[in-house]
Amino acid sequence: MTAGGPEVVRTVADLRAQVRAWRRESLRIGLVPTMGALHEGHLSLVDASMRDCDRTVVSIFVNPTQFGPNEDFDSYPRGEADDLAKLAGRGAHLAFAPNRNEVYADGFATTVTVTGVSEGLCSVTRPHFFQGVATVVTKLLLQCLPDRAYFGEKDYQQLQVIRRLARDLDIPVEIVGAPTVREADGLAMSSRNAYLSPENRLQAPVLYRTMCAVADALRQGEAIKAVLDRGRRALAEAGFEPVDYLEVREAGTLAPVADAWNPATPARIFAAAWLGETRLIDNIPVAANS
Ligand code: AMP
Repeated sequence: MTAGGPEVVRTVADLRAQVRAWRRESLRIGLVPTMGALHEGHLSLVDASMRDCDRTVVSIFVNPTQFGPNEDFDSYPRGEADDLAKLAGRGAHLAFAPNRNEVYADGFATTVTVTGVSEGLCSVTRPHFFQGVATVVTKLLLQCLPDRAYFGEKDYQQLQVIRRLARDLDIPVEIVGAPTVREADGLAMSSRNAYLSPENRLQAPVLYRTMCAVADALRQGEAIKAVLDRGRRALAEAGFEPVDYLEVREAGTLAPVADAWNPATPARIFAAAWLGETRLIDNIPVAANS
């Protein structure tokens, strides 16, 4: 690490040279993939890697292939200097911040598609999304080849997609999931929260509160459909429009849970809904063991 912050590399060759040097010293390496605009959620992943590993690499790359044509790729918050200052505060060793051509060279023609866990939920309204994520994460894992890579449960479906691809493609990296970091009022931290108007920011915690109420009702044994209908109404009344989904799914397979919650099967509540121009997503376990 250079004084004042992590060293920054912009090419795969430089990343690999550094990782090779660490390997020669038998150091354990953690990777935290991000799109920058770092907040305490990202930094909790950095902290986890710093605890478990000898060296921590944080990638910062706003991946164009996971954005649809009408999505917010151009306006996505970017601020490398701020990000590097935050990483310096946590002691991260290396930032990998490639440009677009380094990741997607001319003629790039390969994609990674994960079936099963990538179906439903976010893929309904963002059909391009998981292929973009799976492709870039596969590349990042192979570029760095860390011992462990850290991802947030905040994007739980994404985490399951990444677990699946690492297993299926025999990528020798342990995928570690970390709990969602929330604001004091329950709103899950997200780079996109910066888009919320002051009024929307006040309404935003209703998403988490509604999921908590759904979880309570399911634990009481209420029928899932009635509980979710009530939850969707609560979101609509609080100004969420549209509600992309509010669903209960098995935690491992993400298979839909139809009738009533069964305490023997870990399950989670998943929600995605819009406030103004901002799409919020979140998820929580129905019970603590989920
Ligand atoms: P992003 O920069 O949004 O692609 O996120 C990079 C990583 O940070 C992903 O693994 C996310 O799941 C994780 N992450 C984002 N928000 C949070 C949060 N509030 N708590 C924990 N992890 C998060």
